[in-house]
Amino acid sequence: MSEIDNPVTKSTRHVLLSVLAHPDDETFGMGGTLAKYAHEGVDVYLICATRGEVGEMEPQYMEGFNDPAARREYELRCAAKKLGLKDVFFLDYKDSGMAGSVHNQDPESLVAAPLENVAEKVKSYIDRLQPDVILTFDPIGGYRHPDHIKIHDATVLAFQNCLAEGKNGSGIQTEKTCPKKLYFHTIPKGFIKFSVGLLKLIGRDPKKFGKNQDIDLQSIIEVDFPIHAVVNYSKYSSLRNEASACHASQGGTATSGGIMGWLRRIFGAKDLFMRAFPEPKNGDMRENDLFAGI
Ligand SMILES: [Zn+2]
Repeated sequence: MSEIDNPVTKSTRHVLLSVLAHPDDETFGMGGTLAKYAHEGVDVYLICATRGEVGEMEPQYMEGFNDPAARREYELRCAAKKLGLKDVFFLDYKDSGMAGSVHNQDPESLVAAPLENVAEKVKSYIDRLQPDVILTFDPIGGYRHPDHIKIHDATVLAFQNCLAEGKNGSGIQTEKTCPKKLYFHTIPKGFIKFSVGLLKLIGRDPKKFGKNQDIDLQSIIEVDFPIHAVVNYSKYSSLRNEASACHASQGGTATSGGIMGWLRRIFGAKDLFMRAFPEPKNGDMRENDLFAGI
């Protein structure tokens, strides 16, 4: 739709900013939610801290690309188009790999960067895009990936810094526009518990899950976060699946079908969020719209 067809100007549209770490986080995690809002008139932006440099891939995916980062940026741009994102911004850090990986030692890696610097970069996009709602990882980064945790911490700090700047000396809110809501995407624990049971049943170790056997599902179900919002994206499931297929080098095609697709069909096309700001009060109803009250 061109600007002429669509009389809604940018200033009257809601803005959603998702702050994540690697190409594929936007789709595998909250892709359904991003597609839903992008197709319902919200300007949806993505900050991606790295280009997923250390993600392993079969040689066939490297054809025509100089390095894995180039392939993964290409995949992310493909997914962003499917999801309907308005723009994608890279923070140009390097993927740190899972905890204990040698890539953690790279001085250019995201985990090696001072938290304040990462938060400052995120804050510069908050100032520029003036989002109404910000989404990021939960405090354990979904599945304890160090880059996810770093981005969670940096986004929370950037959000707090914005609010602090918006107050004058007497502590009264000034005209400064800060995001009105901050949510953490969290993986449905029922889904993981089910998977852990299933893996044990077929004789696999749930502490060594994933392509690189570096995801400890058992340690993920030990932490439970409150769910304050459930976003149903069933109308946009096909877009999420198309975006997922863009991430072919990371198994995106398998995620839409196979066992993951089957589990998703059981648990439904829903994303779960914990609300960090405004702080939920006792008796608050569970939201089904991240823009409720805005
Ligand atoms: Zn990631």
